[in-house]
Amino acid sequence: MNLTADRATIAEMDSTPTVNLYDLSRAALEEMLAAWGYSSYYAGQVWANLYRRLATSVGEMTELRPQLAERLAAEAIIGVPQTQAIIHSADGHTSKFLLGLADGQAIETVLMYFRGRATACVSTQVGCAMGCVFCATGQMGFRRHLTPGEIVGQVAYVARLLRERGEMLRNIVLMGMGEPLHNYDATMAALETVMDHRGLAIAPRFITLSTVGVVPGIRRLAAEAQPFRLAVSLHGATDEERARLVPPARRWPLAELIAACRHYSETLRRRIFFEWALIDGQNDSPAQAHALGRLLHGLNAHVNLIPLNPTIGYDGRPTEATAVKAFQAVLAGYGLPSTVRQRRGIDVAAGCGQLATDPLRLAAANQGRASDRSAAG
Ligand code: SAH
Ligand code: SF4
Repeated sequence: MNLTADRATIAEMDSTPTVNLYDLSRAALEEMLAAWGYSSYYAGQVWANLYRRLATSVGEMTELRPQLAERLAAEAIIGVPQTQAIIHSADGHTSKFLLGLADGQAIETVLMYFRGRATACVSTQVGCAMGCVFCATGQMGFRRHLTPGEIVGQVAYVARLLRERGEMLRNIVLMGMGEPLHNYDATMAALETVMDHRGLAIAPRFITLSTVGVVPGIRRLAAEAQPFRLAVSLHGATDEERARLVPPARRWPLAELIAACRHYSETLRRRIFFEWALIDGQNDSPAQAHALGRLLHGLNAHVNLIPLNPTIGYDGRPTEATAVKAFQAVLAGYGLPSTVRQRRGIDVAAGCGQLATDPLRLAAANQGRASDRSAAG
């Protein structure tokens, strides 16, 4: 064996940056391949392998010229996240995945059936800087932003799993870990990729971005006429009450937030969804429902009421069903439509961040996974 040559090869490999193909827009992929001497036809082949065939490695890609396959294998990877744990809800409607990233961090991705349609709930950050008190992700604090490829990787992961069952991924909600508008560029890049009609082709009307209310981000969405749905997490109808649950309320007061929402809704002629986690004795009184009705008056709005999903770090309880109905009735009096979202599969900790932060649930999930494996094997 020629040690010197081997060392040289290793040094060469180390100096060649490895690109995660999921990080590249279609244009960037075309550019990279053009620099290697391949026309856009070849970029189209690679793109189809990534997002139509859902290849998990360069080796799995089909119909590539051998030289192109070789170069891709040397310089690129497909950043498929690693399954660390899976839990399925008892009702079979929700599966939650703890996925490991290249640097050892873990995120959560959820597959749920919403009105019979397969929906991927995707993370945009590891942890979150916003610190909402009832949220498991908020309780863990901010670790880092996800790259576009790490966001795309979650969507491809769920799409692949569904395809094995003969199903298609239809909806995406950015309601996993993290605040998408705090990681604006990566989130938009990832959505552009998953919407591409030559790839995963998820229609923008089936993509919902949920934000805690980052005002500059909402204004930017409007200015750029981004095509997907917007959901804003409100949880309080006065600055004081909201700030107790959602600390960013101090930075972006309701007057500014609602003005930005109004601007968004009028500019793009679109309805906005407002999320309200109903917490017993905190934000579920008829007076608070009246305040919400007044706050959203005249806006093209729909309210999603979500009885709190309990987390370890917060001792609040979900609102009882009768009080939920009463709250809804008050909103109806303002002509404000609302839906009660029973969190599907509450037994799998469907609130974001709960799998990553709750050691007991994680242990149970790992056990479940071990028994899945033994059942399969
Ligand atoms: N950061 C974004 C998106 C992720 S959170 C946002 O805050 O909107 C997605 C939704 O789940 C938000 O409406 C959030 O308020 C809600 N949520 C978080 N933890 C929850 C819990 N324990 N119970 C009910 N809803 C929760
Ligand atoms: Fe972050 Fe959203 Fe959780 Fe608030 S609710 S801490 S913004 S993930």
